[in-house]
Amino acid sequence: MKLHLASITPDGSCFEGEDPVEAFEWEELPGDIVRPAGPIRWELDVKLFGSELYAGGEASADFSGVCSRCGKEMTLPIVGDVCLSMEISAETAEVDLTSELRDAILLALPNHPVCEPGCKGVCPLCGKPLSEGDCQCGGGERRQCLGRPRRAFETATNNRTEV
Ligand SMILES: [Zn+2]
Ligand SMILES: [Zn+2]
Repeated sequence: MKLHLASITPDGSCFEGEDPVEAFEWEELPGDIVRPAGPIRWELDVKLFGSELYAGGEASADFSGVCSRCGKEMTLPIVGDVCLSMEISAETAEVDLTSELRDAILLALPNHPVCEPGCKGVCPLCGKPLSEGDCQCGGGERRQCLGRPRRAFETATNNRTEV
């Protein structure tokens, strides 16, 4: 995203637009579970205060990948907050905010993206997605039993904070 300083009015201006997906300069690594699937979009309020430029708003992009719980292919809309200031000189005619917008989006990426908040994952035994209903192998039920030790652990931790 290149911003021409001459296009910023004294009261500040709002800019909207997008850069093609290539602007991510994404290098695919074997362990990646998501990758950019669309343009970098932005909506920014920009203001100049003397030699300082302020930009605030949102940068967003769609990612594609697999759910970290059930392995289903999914599209993940990511919105990042942009809030930056930058020193500019009298000779500056334009600034390139592409890397700032990219970083704002990447920061908003979850470490363990899921297809939906309530994704139940897959049966640990047969691999069937549990959102499609309980599987026949019984592994799904056994999986629910795993809830018990965790509750016991939480009770133990709660007791500790009370002391
Ligand atoms: Zn899922
Ligand atoms: Zn199963």
